[in-house]
Amino acid sequence: MKTKFFSWILVICISLSSSIAQTENTALVLQEMTWVDVEDYLENNDMVIIPLGSTEQHGPHLPLGTDYYEAFEISKAISQQTGILVAPALFVGYSIYHSGFPGTLSLKPETMEQVLFETAEALIKYGFSKFLFFNYHGGNNIVQDRVIHRINHTTEAVAIAIGVGSELQSSGNGEFDWHAGIKETSIMLYLKPDLVKMERAQKPVISFTPRVEELKSLSEKYAELDPVWKSLLGVPSETKKGGASHELSSNGIWSAYDPKSATKEIGQKNVNQMVERAVKLIKAWKLAEN
Ligand SMILES: [Zn+2]
Repeated sequence: MKTKFFSWILVICISLSSSIAQTENTALVLQEMTWVDVEDYLENNDMVIIPLGSTEQHGPHLPLGTDYYEAFEISKAISQQTGILVAPALFVGYSIYHSGFPGTLSLKPETMEQVLFETAEALIKYGFSKFLFFNYHGGNNIVQDRVIHRINHTTEAVAIAIGVGSELQSSGNGEFDWHAGIKETSIMLYLKPDLVKMERAQKPVISFTPRVEELKSLSEKYAELDPVWKSLLGVPSETKKGGASHELSSNGIWSAYDPKSATKEIGQKNVNQMVERAVKLIKAWKLAEN
């Protein structure tokens, strides 16, 4: 009787896993395709997702490529559900204010803008005409805005932002857990657990300048002041605002919380939410254009 019960369980498990395998498509990644595949893709599609990330310090426990992996893996998940091609362009972003910690790389905003725009120009030449930028690094927002503006204003193609900080993903959550904290550690525990060194995760000592402290506490009373103190953070140390990463945080983490509380489940929830929003948008956009 027991054997029969286990064989039934086995049958259920096998049929479940095969139905999951059938519904999960593989992501379309430009570098992994041949020119013939791209030609076929362009017969019925003109959309492309471009992930933007960074190579910058993410505390003592997360890899330097955290933002890139987040943007790339989430873009691939969107691709799996929509069949939209992902064309990675850059591993490096604008991260100069993190350069107090070794390994951080940074491109000047104008360099990055030019590389991204020329990449878009090449894609436009083959027939891509809808660009969806998935950015996962706040420092890149200014560059992303400029590239999107340049594509929309100087070519026949259309470009929009769908990543973190975009209108699509705005959560209205202003809590101080911005960089390598609980949220980001959770996302990496879900996406790239082998690269997370949890034994090194530690709550940072955050040192706001007296000016930031004052504006921050005033903004609790006058919410309008929120963007003022935030604008003093994430800036190079040469500006003397005390907002560079190594001035602000003892270990590179920007969070009021202990990243040891991160869980894979929190990460999965966050990723799924971002993917769902993007998938919904892509489906609606495809429908609107047909
Ligand atoms: Zn990050």
